[in-house]
Amino acid sequence: MIPIDFIDNMQAQLGNELDAFCQALSEPPTVSIRVNDKLMPGELPVLINDSQARQVPWNPDGYYLSARPQFTLDPLMHAGCYYVQEPSSMFLDHVLRELVPDDAVVLDLCAAPGGKSTIISQHLLYGLLVSNEVVRQRVFILAENVQKWGNGNVIVTHNKPSDFSERLPNAFDCILVDAPCSGEGMFRKDERAQQEWSLKNVQMCAQRQKQILKDAWGALKPGGLIIYSTCTYNTLENEQIVRFINNELGADIVPIPLQQQWGIQQGLGCHFYPHKLRGEGLYMCALRKREQHFTEFRPKPAKKNKRQPQQDLQEVREWLFNPEIWHLYQTERFVIAFPEDFRELIEYMYDHFTCISVGFGLSELRGRHQAPLHSLSMVKDFNAEAFPIVELELPQALAYLRTEALQLPHAPVGLVLLTYHNIPLGFAKNIGNHCNNLYPYEWRIRNASL
Ligand code: SAM
Repeated sequence: MIPIDFIDNMQAQLGNELDAFCQALSEPPTVSIRVNDKLMPGELPVLINDSQARQVPWNPDGYYLSARPQFTLDPLMHAGCYYVQEPSSMFLDHVLRELVPDDAVVLDLCAAPGGKSTIISQHLLYGLLVSNEVVRQRVFILAENVQKWGNGNVIVTHNKPSDFSERLPNAFDCILVDAPCSGEGMFRKDERAQQEWSLKNVQMCAQRQKQILKDAWGALKPGGLIIYSTCTYNTLENEQIVRFINNELGADIVPIPLQQQWGIQQGLGCHFYPHKLRGEGLYMCALRKREQHFTEFRPKPAKKNKRQPQQDLQEVREWLFNPEIWHLYQTERFVIAFPEDFRELIEYMYDHFTCISVGFGLSELRGRHQAPLHSLSMVKDFNAEAFPIVELELPQALAYLRTEALQLPHAPVGLVLLTYHNIPLGFAKNIGNHCNNLYPYEWRIRNASL
């Protein structure tokens, strides 16, 4: 049941468009995905057999699907070939292309489950993303989604917004605050959002949004960009928060170029209404922090870890197409790869933040040999041909993703890379009469049958 106070608010906002808006709320939400560049452009609609799939106007990687497939039973989703994402959220890609250079250092402050982080990491061809989530239970799904997307340029952290201002002052070129909100834009998709809605909750959300912004503000460079977004319509959580950033924190609104036929309404920020476009409710606004004299943050080089073993890593370098762009950081047990260009910042963060994942795990020391880690097989820079490859059919691929035992009688003995439609799914060790399944147990598919 749509709350009456909500309708009153919308009447004030939309005037004579209210009926069209209410009509749109009674229609089913769209089903859409955003495709990773692990696949060729246009390849996915063919693979998922949807000839009616149509591109999302503001994002060339986004597709509206004609029906909802059983995503859990598609190995390509588990391999990070696409992300099931609401179309309006995909607008972030357009904002980044317009306003953020691809070598920027970006903080996604409220990042779980990671849809927007995957957009940012793909945009930052030469940059770095810090993807943060303060709620402990949500941080692991964030790390999983980021790893599967496979850019390798992300640090996932579990910290409070104020930690960034205190420990990384003036460090970020851009901060995305995709704030926790009252979720009015999700009413069509999520009945709980309707039940939990109240005017009091809207006010509480607005207070929290201001606090989050205030706490993280010091981490943004003067001249840096803040992108503020919510999935709600009301002005208290949108325009009024933007005015707060503008007047009290000190930033100027940056208009976002739009195409009129997209149906996005630009006022003080961009509004997505479901009666004007195919997507759920969303609000997004970009502001530039005012320039002032400041000292650029320069992380001190990390203390040398005396116990860090220095092994010859020639073999593991061959598992990457471009080993020179990665710094290989060795711990007692693991080799972790992250972008060489950001080595000092990343080592500093390693020491000062609760890091859940850094770049990608490349290998683990087993006896005197390095064994590849699963996260390597998800990375776009992975040189799959360094391993014997076994292409799987759908039933075997699903058995692998459920971490069941496999039999691969025609595969070579030893470590093999399993693929589906030539996309890496992960490793297995073929012993001969059976295979040890090396898929991460915590990522396994549960309760799904073909
Ligand atoms: N950006 C995400 C995506 O695209 O997948 C969705 C983010 S969701 C709208 C807001 C996130 O903020 C949630 O993951 C929530 O746990 C987190 N959050 C809740 N309270 C917070 C707080 N006080 N400070 C920072 N983040 C908070």
